[in-house]
Amino acid sequence: MLEAIRAPRQVHVTEVGPRDGLQNEKVLLSTAHKAELVRALVAAGVREFELTSFVSPRAVPALADAAELVAELRDIDRVHFSALVPNLRGAERALEAGIDSVVLFVSASETHNAKNVNASVDESLASFEQVARRLEGSGIELRGAIATCFGCPFEGDVDVAAVGRIARHFADLGARYVSLGDTTGMATPPLVAERIAHLREVAPGVSPTLHFHNTRGIGLANVMQGLALGVDRYESSIGGLGGCPFAPKATGNIASEDLVYLLGEMGIETGIDLERMIEAAQLATRLMGRPLPAQVSKAGPRLALSDCAAVPTAKG
Ligand code: ZN
Repeated sequence: MLEAIRAPRQVHVTEVGPRDGLQNEKVLLSTAHKAELVRALVAAGVREFELTSFVSPRAVPALADAAELVAELRDIDRVHFSALVPNLRGAERALEAGIDSVVLFVSASETHNAKNVNASVDESLASFEQVARRLEGSGIELRGAIATCFGCPFEGDVDVAAVGRIARHFADLGARYVSLGDTTGMATPPLVAERIAHLREVAPGVSPTLHFHNTRGIGLANVMQGLALGVDRYESSIGGLGGCPFAPKATGNIASEDLVYLLGEMGIETGIDLERMIEAAQLATRLMGRPLPAQVSKAGPRLALSDCAAVPTAKG
């Protein structure tokens, strides 16, 4: 299987539950509960987090404690914490809080970008220059995130060239990692193949990270397509938490435990212990007070066998 699809031997899984997962939830978690969830995921072996977002607390109340959460987790070593920032002011707050990388984000669709940050795509791109200059010499890495890369809930299809142009802009600003966000779950395997091929052509210095939502049930099929193309970075949220307040019908990210299960069964190294990740998912379920969409945390690993005597035998 691995040989047939040339999957990478090792994959980096970035946990986005604390940011993407929580920003649209009605239940607001306390800083202490968020930190408890992050620590459970670190114990499972997760080494990269998109932890929070330094946006207006009025716009996204669930992430109003960004600086407090970073402070709460300061003792954790060898784990990369990134945060989304919309502008220079957000970057200043992130720098002050002590984050490892700043993620600048823009949508490939004009309408979604206007809804999300009230700016045109070009205005967003122009504003990134200031942030890049501010980060120079700070030791803080700059990363990029592009929303609605595979389709927009308002505009429909998104031109692959629009995605490529933004990725190039990020590369010019010094970003090595650019995440391709499937904000409302419109990605399909052919679109993934087209976008990755285009990106490799126009922004060869960029290492793409794939960020799928499971809105239409094919999130992991899209991951398989990414693996077949050798993409080794994926974003997911524990339990499948998530959505987008500025996109109708947006549902959760692909679930971290479902992703880690798939990768593990394919013999791909993630450094993450599935059983411990399932424990973290159960903690997330308790904290949110509702069942989460992920499946492996409910069914267990495939060889977690049932007690045969406990199941009645069919009669007749
Ligand atoms: Zn997302």
